[in-house]
Amino acid sequence: MEPKPPHSEVTFLGIPASPGIAIGPIYAVSRGFAAPEVFEIEPSQVPHEQERFSQALDRTRQQLQELQQRMEHLAGSEPGDIFEVHIMLLEDPAVVKRVHAAIASRCQNAEYVFFATMQTYLEAMRRVADPYLRERTVDIEDVALRVLRAFRNDNEPRHPGSDGPHILMAFDLTPSDTVGMDRRHILGFVTEQGSVNSHTAILARAFGIPAVVGLEGSILDVTTLSLTVLDGYAGKLIVHPKPETLEHYRKLVIDKQRIRAQVESHRDVATETTDGQHVTVSANMELLEELELVTHSGAKGIGLYRTEFTLLSGGEIPDELAQAHTYTRVVEAISPHRVIIRTLDAGGDKLPVEPLTEPEPNPFLGWRGIRVSLARPAMFRDQLRAILRASGVGPVAMMFPMVSGISEVECARELIARCMDELDREGVPFDRAIPVGIMVEVPSAAVCADILASLVDFFSIGTNDLIQYTVAADRVNPHVADLYRPTHPAVIRLIKNTIDAGRDHGIWTGICGEMAGDIRLTPLLIGLGARELSVGPQQVPRVGEAIRTVNHAECVALADEAMRQTRSHDILNSSLEIARKCYGYLLD
Ligand code: PEP
Ligand code: MG
Repeated sequence: MEPKPPHSEVTFLGIPASPGIAIGPIYAVSRGFAAPEVFEIEPSQVPHEQERFSQALDRTRQQLQELQQRMEHLAGSEPGDIFEVHIMLLEDPAVVKRVHAAIASRCQNAEYVFFATMQTYLEAMRRVADPYLRERTVDIEDVALRVLRAFRNDNEPRHPGSDGPHILMAFDLTPSDTVGMDRRHILGFVTEQGSVNSHTAILARAFGIPAVVGLEGSILDVTTLSLTVLDGYAGKLIVHPKPETLEHYRKLVIDKQRIRAQVESHRDVATETTDGQHVTVSANMELLEELELVTHSGAKGIGLYRTEFTLLSGGEIPDELAQAHTYTRVVEAISPHRVIIRTLDAGGDKLPVEPLTEPEPNPFLGWRGIRVSLARPAMFRDQLRAILRASGVGPVAMMFPMVSGISEVECARELIARCMDELDREGVPFDRAIPVGIMVEVPSAAVCADILASLVDFFSIGTNDLIQYTVAADRVNPHVADLYRPTHPAVIRLIKNTIDAGRDHGIWTGICGEMAGDIRLTPLLIGLGARELSVGPQQVPRVGEAIRTVNHAECVALADEAMRQTRSHDILNSSLEIARKCYGYLLD
């Protein structure tokens, strides 16, 4: 595919993953190896850059021939063949022609254009079904790397790279990429893969970074450094925006900032419906860096502390005391409000707890959540004791992820009791009445909520997983994003069943999946009986404002109606109707 002519506006559509608008140059990063610096050149420099490319190819060819000779000298003819293949790849006339043309059309430096061209080839190769061809990507990567290094042999002055503010574009970003990136310069990000409920998207929302995901195939068509608008509300990436498009978005940014300031000014007002039903709004937290965002958001506690990001982002899992230190910092910052600490939820699309000998064929149905903790009792014990230690300094609750049935809870409770006895003997203060809850995120747990309710003090519904397991649609796979419907009647029934069973057993239920932060659904969730909505820190003010404007009795009637509705969009629309009536100005 030829690059688009410069300066014509092009819009790519993806999935809105984190609200907000970003305007700035785009920077595409690759898989496999790092992108070289990129800079624009004058049209008059095109022949010079094309010549630099030819020289880099010559140098690489020379190197490969030398390697081939050395290899043949050492080990006979056979092993040198690999370099023959590499030389053929290097001389592929289609690539050479394409790089020459792209230097002229993109007006960018030769090494970057070569790199971008190779990315196109590599991506195409990675997507072919034939495993033999797929494996050849290693050879292409190898040759491409050599050529890129060969560029550095020239004595050209270095050019400034793109280290200012930019929109980051990648094939995919893992949660650890998102955690590790230098966020000071990231205005927003765009990925070809991913979906709204991937942990990368959740982190983007937590940090208030606009993001669009699932823009299939587009990374190959976007020229790095192009001016771009990222619309995280509508899921659009607009490259080379027209002046009127830019004007529209600049106005939108100002409007959104005004509404946000207005809503934030109400953050200390109680989150009660107009007829007096209180619903707690708490925050979800992944990293200590978010603590300040959480305390500023007006959240009344932390409804979900995802400890896996603290535990697994360094090389080794921190020991009991180091964990206790971290949890205590969180508890002290949030006190007098409560922190619900979730025990390690490794696996799925998150960080693995240890390298498995074989990759799992179905990671989401595999070794994750409490299954990992119960299989590693020493590690689990460290975490339980650390949480108990933190409960000695302020209000703490703990909960377990991925519970599928009663025996997991029984085993975990037994371990807690043992840890309590040990700490007692050691004279360490902790809260013996610490509430213990479970995430309800596996359909079997939601169906058996009446059985599980007698074993725990609260339920927290993890809708991100509950939806994926109920409708059998992977939460991070854009190909099935359309099936992943929070208001699917089956999901609504499971939520209702859980809340009702909890109420019958005298325990409360909160919701901590991303559904809780979607203000189109606030009336429905309140009506179904949720007593706590735990949301990303950026969503706290809006969810609080939404609660203050709705009437509880009307929400209950809506939820009753939803139980009779048969289509997900009808359920969504009924909730949206109340949302529009009560707080239309807050909706994106
Ligand atoms: C969920 O599944 O809804 C949830 C809150 O847990 P996580 O997103 O961390 O899997
Ligand atoms: Mg989950």
